[in-house]
Amino acid sequence: MTAGRPAAPGSAAATRPDPALRVGVDQDRCCGSGMCVLNAPGVFDQRDEDGIVVLLDARPPEGRRREVRDAESGCPSQAIEVTEE
Ligand code: SF4
Repeated sequence: MTAGRPAAPGSAAATRPDPALRVGVDQDRCCGSGMCVLNAPGVFDQRDEDGIVVLLDARPPEGRRREVRDAESGCPSQAIEVTEE
C-alpha cells in the first residue's frame, strides 16, 4: 500500500482485520516504575542498574494487543507509544 493513500475497498489491506502493532519506548522519559513489565512481560523489561525500560519486542503478536495497550495507558511517564500499521 502506498503511504498516505487509503486502502481501496475490497483490497487485502482494507479487509485485514487487525493492523500489526509497533511499540516504541522513550528511555529518557521513563521513571522506572515497572508497570509495563507487569502488564506485558516479554515485551518490556527493565535495566538491572536503574530500572529504566528495555524494549524486548517492538512487533508483538496480535494476541498481545490488550496487554501492550494496557502497558501504554498505564505508563505514568507516557514513555510508551503503540502504533498500528
Ligand atoms: S511503565 Fe513507563 S515509566 Fe514505568 S518502567 Fe515502563 S516505560 Fe518506564
